[in-house]
Amino acid sequence: MIPFVDLKAQYRSIKDEINVALDEVLENTSFVLGPAVARFEEKFAAYAGAKHAIAVNSGTSALHLALLAAGIKPGDEVIAPAMTFVATVAAINYVGAKPVLVDIDPVTYNIAPFKIEELITKNTRAIMPVHLYGQSADMDPILDIARRRNLVVIEDAAQAHGAEYKGRRCGSMGDISGFSFYPGKNLGAYGEGGAVVTNRDDLAKTVRMLRDWGQEKKGVHVLKAFNYRMEGFQGAVLGVKMNHIEAWTEGRRRAAATYNRLLRGVPGIALPAEMPYARHVYHVYGILVKNRDAVAHELQDAGIGTNVHYPNPIHLQPCLSELGHKRGDFPNAERLADEELSLPMYPELTDEQITQVAAALGAALNA
Ligand SMILES: *Cc1c(COP(=O)(O)O)cnc(C)c1O
Repeated sequence: MIPFVDLKAQYRSIKDEINVALDEVLENTSFVLGPAVARFEEKFAAYAGAKHAIAVNSGTSALHLALLAAGIKPGDEVIAPAMTFVATVAAINYVGAKPVLVDIDPVTYNIAPFKIEELITKNTRAIMPVHLYGQSADMDPILDIARRRNLVVIEDAAQAHGAEYKGRRCGSMGDISGFSFYPGKNLGAYGEGGAVVTNRDDLAKTVRMLRDWGQEKKGVHVLKAFNYRMEGFQGAVLGVKMNHIEAWTEGRRRAAATYNRLLRGVPGIALPAEMPYARHVYHVYGILVKNRDAVAHELQDAGIGTNVHYPNPIHLQPCLSELGHKRGDFPNAERLADEELSLPMYPELTDEQITQVAAALGAALNA
């Protein structure tokens, strides 16, 4: 059996460090925020190449607060890709703004920059690129449009811990960004977690207040706000994991390189393209294959777990029918939804296991 993800392998390798860190939280009863969370915030800001990281209770909350702090309001329009996890667009809905969808690039699977400008109206306030699967969106043209048209850039970096664009870290290039520490993400808590990252002092101050009931000081609630605080245990776990994230990222990149070597030239599939500007961190190693569901079944029968990211593009989600889209509106997003197959991917995956997956995939394609 080769599962799609194996969180246990990583836990076993850091069990002793985790126990020490959790014990400390128990001993000083700092169950919400507290020193472990503060230490993690410092480490994560440095890792993301930005001045501030504010830890919250999920990636979705991080995006919500990023949009609020950036001043996005009801009636505003936010440009976002048609292929992403639903939370990107949900966060836009939370602040009462309207998502305006763009198709993705057929090679990078990220928002197609040259399609953005024609969608800008007098109500457009922000562009929200998603670094899908762990590869940076093509940020320079996006930042250029934002500068010229006076728009805010909010990065959805939920899948892109440590990913780079021309040497700059994902989450540090726009005005503000959101990360997720959902257990299956490249940096995963042992529960829910997220962080807002920004270089802007004003936005950081607002987000710190928004996550903790809008308090400027204890008992003085300046903003109508939320309980989006990170738990002490999650800060402790994530703090330990920061000591290993680079090694794990390199593990993912090695696994991806091994897949690429074994699968290059196999007819009937498309491999992920790592762009020259990118350090891809392979949250997802996704291939495209025409008879995707049948191939997934064959692999399942061979004991190999797979996944699909994501079986429905945003514009065809029932909860977003009010946007008035139909099949055919964003063909590249639709192709990904129909053909993407995520192969097992985690840092501990051995070359031997990858060889088994590649062999089983070859057999499934010929079945
Ligand atoms: C995981 C994810 C989110 C949401 O993060 P949660 O921590 O699950 O709330 C948002 N956007 C993208 C692209 C994601 O992959």
